[in-house]
Amino acid sequence: MSGIFGIYSEKECIEDLVWGTSYLQHRGQKFCGWAVSSDNSMVYETHRGKLREKINFNEVKDVKGKIGLGAVSSGDRQPISELSKYGEFFLVYDGNVMGGRELKEDLLNEGHSFTGYYDPTYIPDNVLIGKILALKGPVNGIVQLSERIKGDYSLILLTRKGIIAARGWGRKPLILGKSEYSYVVSSESCVFPNLGLEIERDVKPGEIVSINEEGFSTLKQLDLKPIKYGTFEWVYTANSSSVIDGVSVEEFRNKIGAILAERYPVDADLVSEIPNSGIGYAIGYANKSGIPHIRIFVKYDYADRSFTLGTEKEREEEAKRKLIPIPSIIKGKRIIITDDSIVRGTQTKESHVPRLKNSGALEVHARIGCPLLRDKCSYGKTTKKKEEILFVKMKMSNDNDVKKYLGLDSVGFALPEDLAIASGKSLEELCLSCWGI
Ligand code: SF4
Repeated sequence: MSGIFGIYSEKECIEDLVWGTSYLQHRGQKFCGWAVSSDNSMVYETHRGKLREKINFNEVKDVKGKIGLGAVSSGDRQPISELSKYGEFFLVYDGNVMGGRELKEDLLNEGHSFTGYYDPTYIPDNVLIGKILALKGPVNGIVQLSERIKGDYSLILLTRKGIIAARGWGRKPLILGKSEYSYVVSSESCVFPNLGLEIERDVKPGEIVSINEEGFSTLKQLDLKPIKYGTFEWVYTANSSSVIDGVSVEEFRNKIGAILAERYPVDADLVSEIPNSGIGYAIGYANKSGIPHIRIFVKYDYADRSFTLGTEKEREEEAKRKLIPIPSIIKGKRIIITDDSIVRGTQTKESHVPRLKNSGALEVHARIGCPLLRDKCSYGKTTKKKEEILFVKMKMSNDNDVKKYLGLDSVGFALPEDLAIASGKSLEELCLSCWGI
């Protein structure tokens, strides 16, 4: 998972570039980096850690150049650079290459070499992609990439002349924006309001776009099939203020919350959420049911986003640390708690429910913004290990099993068709494979 951002500006771009990338921090917290191109040079830096902790705004503010890109990542270090007969470029990438080992073998057989990797059995996806783009040039390289990889991607390339951006089959978002003096491309539009940018449009699945002083132009439209939008972006991943493929993330979550209130009504004293991504569902549920929306957990603002951490133990510890309950509100209440999803169920079973009951909650009813996850995500989100998923690990067969195992008084999940209604897309257009569909 990554957040990627690119800018072509009439002014020096470094400040907007660093801030723009920083607004995508929720998409990855392991690595961060940026690159800027000018007539005379291409400069870059990458770090392990969060952008605002690692990149000193005062130190970078004098970097010269009007074109740049940046990334935050939960996987590999970005950006990477390549030099070929087509010139030098920097690459940032959000996606997942299935069969990366075979692709590496194929590239070695074609005469490529990989240097500077301490573990030669593991070559990061973005390095493999960089080799294909260097071999064929940006546009033909992206065409070949789409033919050679299984998986999905959004990517941005920085050359001496401008930016090239491309989107695969649709699971990874990518959106264009502009201000009075700049054109940008970004994983999400949550970047735009505070930088004075307006949404131009989404990059279409299969589209390769050039961004230069004349604005945006389509270099090629690939006929990729089937197009599948990344449903989990609206459910959990994206910032609530973003608009993805024409759908407001916050409004999507409000609509699902309202649907849950109609389908799974229950007498309760309050509706609350697991912050942050449960908030939109709680508002929708409360507005529809008339039950007051009251906070019972306060989020510790400096916590990491749990899914971006490496091991299950790290994720559980961070999930517990980041929520601070308010016992005086919880005591004696029948509580509806909304959450975006249940993947492993560990946080609900071992943290949320016991803490609410220990604080005096009379009843805890969970309402979940998507169906129970049933499969790993092969595209770099949720989990890559099917055996960790609650449905698989505990051999769950129905909601009653989930309710009993998690210690809840009731549970209700949104259905696949609810995701289609809230997004305004057809079921066929939605990626639903992590729900086993
Ligand atoms: S399988 Fe699920 S998490 Fe993965 S891309 Fe599809 S919708 Fe998103």
